Amino acid sequence: MAENTLMEKLVSLAKRRGFVFQSSEIYGGLGSVWDYGPLGVELKKNVKDRWWRAMVHARDDIEGLDAAILMHPRVWEASGHVAGFTDPLVDCKQCKNRFRADDKRIKGTPGQPDAQCPVCGSKGTLTEPRLFNLMFKTFMGPVEEQAAVVYLRPETAQGIYVNYQNVLNSSRQRVPFGIAQIGKAFRNEITPGNFIFRTREFEQMEMQFFVKPGTDMEWFERWREWRMEWHRSIGLTPTKLRWHAHGPGELAHYAKAAYDIEYEFPFGWQEIEGVHNRTDFDLGRHQEYSGKKLEYFDQAANERYLPYIVETSAGADRVTLTLMADAYREETVEGETRVVLGFDPGIAPIKAGVFPLVKKDGMAELADRIYHDLKRQFPVFYDDSGAIGRRYRRMDEAGTPFCITVDGDTQAGQTVTVRARDTMTQERVAIDQLAEYIGSRIRGS
Ligand code: ATP
Repeated sequence: MAENTLMEKLVSLAKRRGFVFQSSEIYGGLGSVWDYGPLGVELKKNVKDRWWRAMVHARDDIEGLDAAILMHPRVWEASGHVAGFTDPLVDCKQCKNRFRADDKRIKGTPGQPDAQCPVCGSKGTLTEPRLFNLMFKTFMGPVEEQAAVVYLRPETAQGIYVNYQNVLNSSRQRVPFGIAQIGKAFRNEITPGNFIFRTREFEQMEMQFFVKPGTDMEWFERWREWRMEWHRSIGLTPTKLRWHAHGPGELAHYAKAAYDIEYEFPFGWQEIEGVHNRTDFDLGRHQEYSGKKLEYFDQAANERYLPYIVETSAGADRVTLTLMADAYREETVEGETRVVLGFDPGIAPIKAGVFPLVKKDGMAELADRIYHDLKRQFPVFYDDSGAIGRRYRRMDEAGTPFCITVDGDTQAGQTVTVRARDTMTQERVAIDQLAEYIGSRIRGS
């Protein structure tokens, strides 16, 4: 399938089936901001739940946190974001459009007479590059003045650093230990795009692991392995995942080592998660800017040190898009195209469709009862409209792994057919075994 076509198909399926809508669509939309519909919110929630389970519930050495989006403005001075979270931009004096200085469509050198605006085509109208900060600013309190400026956080990590001692003092943790957080982040991206891949409002799933200096590279390697394994565990095709090591020119100012987990999207290999060895940069800076000691005292060894931090940072929206792109397929079945989102059952937004074969002989009542019974445990969907084949297709497109049909034999034998999305094969299952049948396949995934 042509690359762009796949993205176009995904965007249209996402809207048609209620995964993702453009924000404020009836007003013409808001640039690179998206809303999640009924199926999308379930899918993204499953991504976040799986991450939380793997990072917090399944481990003894990580605690959860939910810090506020608004933070003291000094945090962003200490973190380096006020001075350094910038992109160089150029303006066209003619058409007033703004571009990243490294925009490949610009011919010539911005600021020089030979530079040509990629939109209006004028020559010599592009300004010299100027630095533009990507943080969204707002004001706290009733007065809009410089002293009241606060920022919408551009990453969740800083909320963890400033709470590191609170968590340490209120939990039973000792270094090495981690703090995990899922939350919104905001970046005034200049070249957003590719649907929900790069947006201006997004959710991050970040974990900061505090370790003794000297053990940091060991932990870094462990975390690399665990994070790659997680992406495989949610069903992503292993051959479409790879590592990208940051070379010396790419490495952020705070990092000693950094690797991205990349996925092969229809628009090329792109980062979905970063694993970084941030050294003691962050705690060192917060110690300096706040004037508060942030050292850790290791009682057993009777020594004091600033822990090093290994960070794992993934985007919930980006992983959601990855799952959709990875799961999308088209097949020809009996001369017709079948569109399938082949999600892992544990990740799928709806676990089962429940249908009466026809609306007579008590089948609808029985199907309704089964539906309500299962609904107490899983997200399930009742559908009694149209031919059974069409109902199957609708569930295939939503990525629902199982379809349960009440038919003429159900009443007598107390069994139903369960049709598997991927193989399209059916088997008869006893009604009282249904919850276990579905539950074991979701848990097993
Ligand atoms: P990129 O180079 O793609 O802008 P980055 O290196 O700035 O990303 P980080 O700051 O390391 O990204 O953020 C960690 C993760 O947060 C990324 O791997 C990605 O999944 C997610 N993320 C970052 N920026 C965005 C965005 N604008 N929209 C959606 N997700 C994002």
